[in-house]
Amino acid sequence: MNTQDVIKLFDQYVIANYGRLPKVIDHGQGSYIYDTDGNKILDMFPGWAVSGIGHCHPKVVKAIQAQAAKLLHMDNTFYTELQGKLAKLLSERAFGGKSFFCNSGAEAIEAAMKLARIHTPKNKFKYITTLGSFHGRTFGAMTATAQPKKFENFQPVVPGFIYVPFNDIAAMENAFDDEVAAVMIEPIQGEGGINVASKEYMQAIRKLCDKNQAVMILDEVQTGMGRTGKWFGYQHYDVVPDIITLAKALGGGVAVGAMMAKSDVAASLVPGTHASTFGGNCLACAAGIAVVEAIEEEKLLENAAKIGLYAADKLNQLKPKHSIIDHVRGKGLMIGIQLKSPGAEIVSKCLDSGLRINCTQDTVLRFMPAMNVTAKQIDEAVKILDNVLGEMK
Ligand SMILES: *Cc1c(COP(=O)(O)O)cnc(C)c1O
Repeated sequence: MNTQDVIKLFDQYVIANYGRLPKVIDHGQGSYIYDTDGNKILDMFPGWAVSGIGHCHPKVVKAIQAQAAKLLHMDNTFYTELQGKLAKLLSERAFGGKSFFCNSGAEAIEAAMKLARIHTPKNKFKYITTLGSFHGRTFGAMTATAQPKKFENFQPVVPGFIYVPFNDIAAMENAFDDEVAAVMIEPIQGEGGINVASKEYMQAIRKLCDKNQAVMILDEVQTGMGRTGKWFGYQHYDVVPDIITLAKALGGGVAVGAMMAKSDVAASLVPGTHASTFGGNCLACAAGIAVVEAIEEEKLLENAAKIGLYAADKLNQLKPKHSIIDHVRGKGLMIGIQLKSPGAEIVSKCLDSGLRINCTQDTVLRFMPAMNVTAKQIDEAVKILDNVLGEMK
């Protein structure tokens, strides 16, 4: 099928709830994707942060090919070795907690919010989240997402959410009352524009949660699995949360989500309180294990930290040349370029020149390349962006 045929199929049969770019992607490898018109595109936003170790990482491909022939899915009526192993790998790299597996970020968020409710005293039902956050699209996760335009058409939404400005300690403190069950933030707001939480903020939240018998949830769906140069974003802060949520890069391209909680908190999620049919299936867990192993074997945490600094530096060098750039911010391979005006046209012009990046909140270009991206690929990407910005003047 050619490009136009596929787009026609979508027009006729696929619900048009996404604003799609007019390209049909056929295959991908590492930091490149290939469209049906024969174009090779350098992907600095692979799979919306899902393909964290690049497209079709050979280790993930091999693991799921082998597992597919053995056992694809086994329901949680029984034990399976892979689910236990993946939980152990995650626990050892985080705070020694226990995991519940699901299939997406939003589901991990729902699990975390339910656990917070069931673990804290009965009168507690409120959640504090931050303006500009993004937690997913199910009703609970959507209401947690403190961007009113995302839920204005769905009122009434889930009760009990309190929204406060990000990185504002006083506002957080003021928002607490006896009924708050949890605070939930992203260590770095992703969709909100790569806004990095300060150390003081993170530590203040920990203290406030302890003082108020509330649970501290960190949404690590985007920051997790090494993107920031450490396994999990919270590890930059000398703080241990009660719960983290994971998804996106966890399966290296296979749908898998997880909620990890400290063991004493996790103990509240007893049989009958929560479940997921597909959660922790063999294929997803085989992929997750391969991802963890590949990150360690190929020293990708170190690479994310090192190439992240390199990329931020290169992008910073564009600033004096292009007045549209305000500043560059982020951590590791989670980089935002704050523009002074909207960036949608830049994204589409880069794509025409063979580079895929993203724009969020209208004016923030997002670079979130695979953790095994090379300095040469960064150079190539920066050069294309430089040219595009130059041509737009
Ligand atoms: C993408 C994202 C989610 C939602 O994940 P889905 O898999 O799309 O449900 C939640 N939180 C954060 C921080 C995310 O980036």
